[in-house]
Amino acid sequence: MKRSHHCAQLTKADLGAAVSLSGWVDSVRDHGGIIFIDLRDRKGVTQVKFDPRGNPELSSKAAHVKPESVVRVAGSVVPRPAGTVNASLPTGEVEVDASELEVLNASETPPFPLDDAGGDKVNEDLRLTYRYLDLRRPRMRRNLAVRHRATKAIRDYFDSEDFIEVETPALFKSTPEGAREYLVPSRMHAGQFYALSQSPQQFKQILMVAGVERYFQIARCFRDEDLRADRQMEFTQVDVEASFVDREDIYALFEGMLRKVWKDVLGTDIPAPFPRMQYVDAMNRFGVDKPDLRFGFELRDFSETFRASGFKVFQGTVASGGAVKAMNAKGLADLTQGELKALEEVAKSLGAKGLAFIKAEGGEWKSPIVKFLSDAEKAALAGALDVADGDMVFFAAAPWEKACAILGRIRLEVAALLQKRGKLVIRQDDWKFLWVVDFPLMSYDEEQKGYVATHHPFTAPVAEDAGLLDTNPRAVRGQHYDIVLNGMELGGGSIRIHQPALQKKIFEDVLKIPADVVENRFGYMLRAFTYGAPPHGGIAFGLDRIVALLCGTTSIRDVIAFPKTQKGQDLMAGSPTPVTPKQLKELHIAIVAPDQPLA
Ligand code: ASP
Repeated sequence: MKRSHHCAQLTKADLGAAVSLSGWVDSVRDHGGIIFIDLRDRKGVTQVKFDPRGNPELSSKAAHVKPESVVRVAGSVVPRPAGTVNASLPTGEVEVDASELEVLNASETPPFPLDDAGGDKVNEDLRLTYRYLDLRRPRMRRNLAVRHRATKAIRDYFDSEDFIEVETPALFKSTPEGAREYLVPSRMHAGQFYALSQSPQQFKQILMVAGVERYFQIARCFRDEDLRADRQMEFTQVDVEASFVDREDIYALFEGMLRKVWKDVLGTDIPAPFPRMQYVDAMNRFGVDKPDLRFGFELRDFSETFRASGFKVFQGTVASGGAVKAMNAKGLADLTQGELKALEEVAKSLGAKGLAFIKAEGGEWKSPIVKFLSDAEKAALAGALDVADGDMVFFAAAPWEKACAILGRIRLEVAALLQKRGKLVIRQDDWKFLWVVDFPLMSYDEEQKGYVATHHPFTAPVAEDAGLLDTNPRAVRGQHYDIVLNGMELGGGSIRIHQPALQKKIFEDVLKIPADVVENRFGYMLRAFTYGAPPHGGIAFGLDRIVALLCGTTSIRDVIAFPKTQKGQDLMAGSPTPVTPKQLKELHIAIVAPDQPLA
């Protein structure tokens, strides 16, 4: 079964050599009685020739081998006849004239084609059911290799920066303020549960108290959230924490990491330092906290313009403390009725009552709202938005955050429509990194009628804002940062609270978590902080998303060897599954069918 060479190795330098190769049968061709097998392994392809004039039995055997079977061949390296050289293959000048053929494992006919183009067309469920075949496709093999190279670059980088990798438990305890958790029943403690770790956040902070100073981990995290193209129930974070650092140290450290990954994997030089944008500016200008900076169409605020407007919808919004925002979709006046309707639906799905617009066409402004606007208001819009014939202006009038969010989404839709028309080019490899900073420490949750941590409750307030915690928590900025690339949040982190009194105050006075609950969930952490906790901060990056971007795919399932489907199933192994009554008994668990009332 041993092989003398891999399948991308043989060249003219090997002519005359006796070799043996093992791999998968990529294809079998019959050229006037001579049988050619393209033999493939993970390195490449070598052509093997079975000439019936030398060995009729062997070539008849070769003719009947089915594609994707695993075989071993032995033979000698010979030049390909003139005119049959394949310049696109490293082995394209030679072939192996076979003297032996051993079928190590015969393959059934695969349920879908294993070339990139063919495989891309089939239903993803089929690919996931036969993932071992899907992973044989060149694109998927390359994705796995890119993931390996990216991970290696990250480990090398942190090693060179004097960090050590420490593993933390997957079985943790339930801390319900984050995402929904996966619970694991305890056999030894009836009725009690572990929770799978959503992130190693608390452990990495404890490691700082333990004096590790510089920690990283390529860590598996688990969150029971609805799955999407960029979300899996288990995913991988590059998780980092360091002591005695401030925000500037973190920015420099992680710019270095990302630059190394892009250089090592793609050979691309990313300029640094990355630009930074305050959260408020990101919302005001792009309507989102993860702006895609590869294109313009910035939002403008016209709240002052419409404060005393005759157009009651805008005037009323401003009077009740809201904002009127507008954006010029340059060159989109040819929008169809259907497209406009679809945009309106998008706006409505975000809570808008409709989507006001002005179409600049044939030298006039066409819009149901234009008759309500004064000349001064029109002049203000035309000037600030640079409205020209062929443009389309969209408005949002709502509470500030909602108005930003609505128009921010419309901005993305508009970019897609202009791309479709060939009026805008957005390159996938136009890497626009950005730090978004100065988030509010707390956000007010209307449903819960209280404050919730914008990032997580361990984030330190900006020092000069700390005095506002008692009087105006909403105005306190957090030492939190997000790293954004082309409209995607790659990761985020913060400088942490390391003083137990301040941490307790955030839990109890600001977040209003009852003292006994704080003790139950976080008591061990507060205690640890009383034994010499250094100032510390850190960040976590979504590795799957980074690798997806490096591979040029939008689905993280393409860069995870064995992902779950959108419905959380492993179609290959077939999970989840029921378990035996004995197993349930050991775990002290009784199943209640979904249509039965709970006891
Ligand atoms: N643990 C955080 C998260 O998973 C990241 C961090 O603050 O370091 O989002």
